[in-house]
Amino acid sequence: MLQNFSRGSIAAEFPPLDIARVETWITRPAKGDHGFGDVKPCLFVRLTSHNGVEGWGEGYVLDGHEPDVAGIIHTIAPGIAALDDITPWGLRDLVSQADTAHLDVDYAGATSAIEMAVWDMIGQVTEKPLYALLGAAGRRDLSIYSNIWSDTQWTGAELAERAVFLIEQGYDAVKIHPLHNHTEEQAIEAVHMIRGAIGPEPKLMVDLDSNDDVELALTVAAAIKPDTITWLEEPADGMDITGLARIRREAGLPVVTGEKQTGVAHFKTLLAHDAADILNPDIAGVGGLLDMLEIAGLADGKGVVVSPHCWNSMTVAASAMMHFCMVIPNPGMAEIYPEYLGHGRLYASAGFEISGPVARTLDRPGLGVSINTAALDGLSSQHDASNLAARRMQ
Ligand SMILES: [Mg+2]
Repeated sequence: MLQNFSRGSIAAEFPPLDIARVETWITRPAKGDHGFGDVKPCLFVRLTSHNGVEGWGEGYVLDGHEPDVAGIIHTIAPGIAALDDITPWGLRDLVSQADTAHLDVDYAGATSAIEMAVWDMIGQVTEKPLYALLGAAGRRDLSIYSNIWSDTQWTGAELAERAVFLIEQGYDAVKIHPLHNHTEEQAIEAVHMIRGAIGPEPKLMVDLDSNDDVELALTVAAAIKPDTITWLEEPADGMDITGLARIRREAGLPVVTGEKQTGVAHFKTLLAHDAADILNPDIAGVGGLLDMLEIAGLADGKGVVVSPHCWNSMTVAASAMMHFCMVIPNPGMAEIYPEYLGHGRLYASAGFEISGPVARTLDRPGLGVSINTAALDGLSSQHDASNLAARRMQ
């Protein structure tokens, strides 16, 4: 497991941080690129110190939960600002005391966002990219895949057309959600159609979206196995560890789970039950980067890889995800929502670039993201700010 860094080694590199102001933004839903799918509301946080150091974070939000997650951020912010030890570790110690809340996806989204912003602040102060803070030697190509999801286009023909388009754009791996608005038979037919359309080479991943029927998942898996499926994602609910373990044993396809689960303990149990081949926690939702790193280390010990989920903007959280993938020993493909990329460019310069089937982080401090706040204001439905009392003065 990577451990080229520690609380002590990183904290020694910069003076104590302080937080004077916490702001959150919630963006409005928007049209995605190429008319395919919509961009969901995203939640951003900016921390600003008394001397003007800024850090950006993003929290994973379920539909309709955005104001709740923003509310949690503003509620816990004064406690964080009052810490003597404003570091990812100090934050983790604080939030872990609220252990029941920490398991909640909204709470974990809030703490993930704040921790991400603290890492970004540390990067700004030390002038180091996040991956360098975490001890990685240098940049390397990161494997990515393209998700295919739309609320308006889901027929087999529409999905096949989208898959072909993305392969032509340079992606070599696509993920589909064949049970979306489909019967079992339609789902199986859609997978056959898409594989036929893209040909044998590109990787094709199938997401059953927390389908709550293990028998259905096994039937679909058996029917699509000849289509050369790279992985079967959420073939059962993420909390149904025995169901996932059974599907893994019987389906003969690699099982992916973890996108809506939080905290290290869940993943430890999942691994103990041999219930997954690949984990896909979300760096903006699992609880924070430290949790992600610990989960990746545990997974590596079991020969399991981590292919991070990222149903977030393709700006702040996606940049953090790329740095994470640079430093863990067992990265799988990282998730990209191609239809979100154009919207992100309206207000942000992300900390990575996509080149064909790979992404590369940029050598900028912290997450490497720069945000045009005037543009973000214009795209947002809500912008809240809390001014915080200074920690005891040094
Ligand atoms: Mg999924």
